[in-house]
Amino acid sequence: MSKNNNDLTNKLDLIWGTDVEAVSCEVCYRSYLLPATDNQQSCPYCNGTLVSLAEVDSDGQKSELNYSQPPELCIPFAVDPDSLKKALKTFAGSGWFAPGDLTSKNLRKRIQPLYIPRWLVDSEVQALWQAEVGFNYKAITHQDKFDDHTGGWKSKQVTETRVRWEARVGKLQRNYDNVSAPALEQEELPTSQYDLKSARPYKPSMLRQGLVMLPNRSPDDAWPEALPEFQSRAQKECRRACQVKHFRDFRWQADYTNHNWTLLLLPLYVTYYLDDDKTPQQVFLHGQTGQLQGTHRASMQKARQVASIIVAVATVIFVLSMLVGFFSVVAPPLIMVAMIGLFTAMLVGLGAVIPLSIAWFNR
Ligand SMILES: [Zn+2]
Repeated sequence: MSKNNNDLTNKLDLIWGTDVEAVSCEVCYRSYLLPATDNQQSCPYCNGTLVSLAEVDSDGQKSELNYSQPPELCIPFAVDPDSLKKALKTFAGSGWFAPGDLTSKNLRKRIQPLYIPRWLVDSEVQALWQAEVGFNYKAITHQDKFDDHTGGWKSKQVTETRVRWEARVGKLQRNYDNVSAPALEQEELPTSQYDLKSARPYKPSMLRQGLVMLPNRSPDDAWPEALPEFQSRAQKECRRACQVKHFRDFRWQADYTNHNWTLLLLPLYVTYYLDDDKTPQQVFLHGQTGQLQGTHRASMQKARQVASIIVAVATVIFVLSMLVGFFSVVAPPLIMVAMIGLFTAMLVGLGAVIPLSIAWFNR
């Protein structure tokens, strides 16, 4: 894609620290940042055509790029595409009636390194909290047991550990950094199971490893999804401060101020195969572990081919059995052979339903 020199591109180059171009997919409307040297023509997600957002801008239309700041943190790719061969081969070879396009060669050829976004939010929190804290204590009880030998009841002293619960309330004033929240509308992309400890401050050279999918979900919209993590961090801190073994029913009323939103980029490989309807079916490979995630769709076309071969075999058996039946007029014992043949033809014919139903349930 040719580089457009206008305000948007110049601004992006400056803040991302390298030559980049903002593009958008005509089909799924996802926005990406491409390194300027990249000749990517199609959307790594849906295979739709990519158009430059700078071109849209110069026509006087509003740019769809609603967030263009570089990330604060980025997790580098830890596996290279060559090491993914085995996983792709296993995926392509598994399952029934794979579409013709689903080959490990196609999956390898179309593999695309991609950074996907997550929001990171920092916030000051002032809160009133309450919880119940528990202390262990020893209690001595007596248990009565029937003794088979003496035929009478026997009392036994038992020491057991019990928990005494007490209410606690407190005030909390903290600053929590880098709480994560989704930056994509439908988060069907795998964004979990990343080791956030390996995140590094963003460097422009990281863009050489892959193109960047830009957020399409606003911080305001994603904010409610960050709240459970704030609460979980506060709960852990309060528990630690109480120095108790048992801690339950944590509740709080929190006020959040001074939000600061930044981006985190997660490494992911995306590839696809085309199903019967020529629709791309995505296959994702985790950029840190290489773990594959994808749906194996069976091809009805292939199942129909197999079913028609089975029907053809059944027809041949049927015709041969009829011929044998005809000859039984001169050699009566042949009637048994003909009957067995007809029965076999019927069984084989019914077997044609099996591939069709397997493919139907795995569409
Ligand atoms: Zn797309």
